[in-house]
Amino acid sequence: TLMQTTKQLRVGLIGDPVAHSFSPRFQQPAFDALGIPARYELWHTPAKQLVERIRSLCEPDCLGANVTIPHKEAVLPLVDKIDPLAARIGAINTIVHRDDYLHGYNTDALGLLHALHEHGLGEMEMSNNRQHISLRGHTAILLGAGGAARAAAFALVDAGVEQLIILNRHLERARHLAADLLRYYDRPIFSLNDPSFLIPRASSIIINATSLGLHEDISPLPVETLAQFDPDTFIYDMIYNPSQTYLLCQARLMGFNTANGLSMLLHQGAQAFTLWTNQPAPIEIMRKSLM
Ligand code: NDP
Repeated sequence: TLMQTTKQLRVGLIGDPVAHSFSPRFQQPAFDALGIPARYELWHTPAKQLVERIRSLCEPDCLGANVTIPHKEAVLPLVDKIDPLAARIGAINTIVHRDDYLHGYNTDALGLLHALHEHGLGEMEMSNNRQHISLRGHTAILLGAGGAARAAAFALVDAGVEQLIILNRHLERARHLAADLLRYYDRPIFSLNDPSFLIPRASSIIINATSLGLHEDISPLPVETLAQFDPDTFIYDMIYNPSQTYLLCQARLMGFNTANGLSMLLHQGAQAFTLWTNQPAPIEIMRKSLM
């Protein structure tokens, strides 16, 4: 096993830029805690070097990689096998070097579900000897239709939400995402672009997957008002830096349960760790390192 090996192994983050990433902060302590002699490195990769970089993952000392902006889609044709959910999403954020093949996965999707479960949403169920999180009975409102929103939308629908409402500034992008989902899932999925649209009260999860709030202290809310939502609605913002966006501040003032994107970051990383190592991720060590 990896824990018995003495030779130095490596895994890393492929992206442009990568210097700002939080991943080494919690991946390296996880390898160290399990006694796996692997280093988590930052592999700054401009688009021109992507093919060569992916080829280098086939070297015997390499466990695989994480992939981030702007390469999550571009790596699809560069791996040997693609996990079905990653193929549906159309983006890969984790590559595993296993049995001389490169396998592509999307752990942003699973990471979001595990984060929501950690915040008390959904049920852990077993089917085909595998654990999965069910969100049956929930309505989800997704703000955004970019890359992160795509992973979230497929994760939410795959987890069984009753209906999904996608609200995006550019309606075309929301419609396109809805159409992609409807190729695979038979579920009510709506797309709209009017932030003042009155949404059914029985909305139980709102997820901000727009970048609104990433840079400004006070940015416009991605929805016109939160007052229309049921008091037990859970509001999740994928943004974790700043830790409290204007959306989360407003939501908390109004008494909603909220959480920021740190839990998703943690769980996508934990899922990737397990895929690389075949070991349960030391999640509490990772969490402590991240906080
Ligand atoms: P994209 O650039 O692919 O998508 C950006 C989204 O934000 C689009 O839906 C876009 O709408 C919307 N948007 C941007 N500016 C505005 C604006 N001024 N008004 C209204 N809508 C706007 O980015 P990603 O999907 O990759 O990332 C989205 C967010 O998710 C980022 O903040 C990122 O940090 C976060 N994230 C967090 C992760 C985690 O682990 N916690 C993982 C991945 C991402 P339009 O289509 O109309 O342009």
